[in-house]
Amino acid sequence: MVETVFFNGEFLPKENVSVSPDDRGFLFADGVYEVVRWYSGFFFNMEGHHSRLKRSLRELKIKWDEADSFPEIAGELIRLNFLEKKPVLVYFQVTRGVAPRTHTFPSPSVKPTTYGFARSFIPESTGKENGISVLLKNDIRWGRCDIKSIALLPNTMSFEEATSKGHGECIFIRDGYITEGSHSNIFFVIDGILRTHPESEYILSGITRKNTIKAAKISGIKVEEKAVHESELNRVSEAFITNTSAEITPVIAFNEIPIGAGRPGPLTELLQKNFHEIVKSYAYK
Ligand code: PMP
Repeated sequence: MVETVFFNGEFLPKENVSVSPDDRGFLFADGVYEVVRWYSGFFFNMEGHHSRLKRSLRELKIKWDEADSFPEIAGELIRLNFLEKKPVLVYFQVTRGVAPRTHTFPSPSVKPTTYGFARSFIPESTGKENGISVLLKNDIRWGRCDIKSIALLPNTMSFEEATSKGHGECIFIRDGYITEGSHSNIFFVIDGILRTHPESEYILSGITRKNTIKAAKISGIKVEEKAVHESELNRVSEAFITNTSAEITPVIAFNEIPIGAGRPGPLTELLQKNFHEIVKSYAYK
């Protein structure tokens, strides 16, 4: 079946899309992206994803005049590809646009290039039930990880290394502190308190992270947004990662060292349950 995508203001068959070699996304990875999940009938926290997209654009000074139409475009991609009843991820990216190659931003500014697609997926379940091990590695990324930039080479390189060694995610350490994963945020339970890196330029403010904190508060679990130092890892009784596609996934080992009993812990399971209640509440909004 022909896949319909969104490209520069139009919905069209994917094979009709062509991107200029002068596109700054192609030349400099000069752009941002967003991924939002459709739960077989509704989007989860579209407002959160929409405002993060606008923030990323603002931070890079990319002016996309139609930014307000992102929710409608995402919905239209679902409809035009007949995916209403399936679990779907909508991917959307905006680059600075097409201009002769030079480091300075084009002046006057050019129209940004926009591209989006919707793809059904089978939500992963084994890792979510049994947990995953993660590879701990030095954070080799830049100092603006709060921007959802399409420049993801450090993330893909690190994730590739983790999976090739049999791990489910790569977790970054910067100056001794755990920041986040290559495509997820990470939480720890230490002395019964849920800990995660505070919002800063060293992590992406994950939509799942925010909703997990909400779920923890509803569940009466104390949350501290305070970075965990690697020297504290031996005190961790539970850990999990969060992201849009995998929601809450238990972490049962750092490198080869098991955490606690080496299986998903009770707080993680409670949060998985309560996170789902929050997801379901979006069905009626
Ligand atoms: N951090 C990074 C680096 C990511 O790429 C992602 C996934 N987009 C996340 C965290 C999790 O964000 P979200 O919960 O919004 O998917």
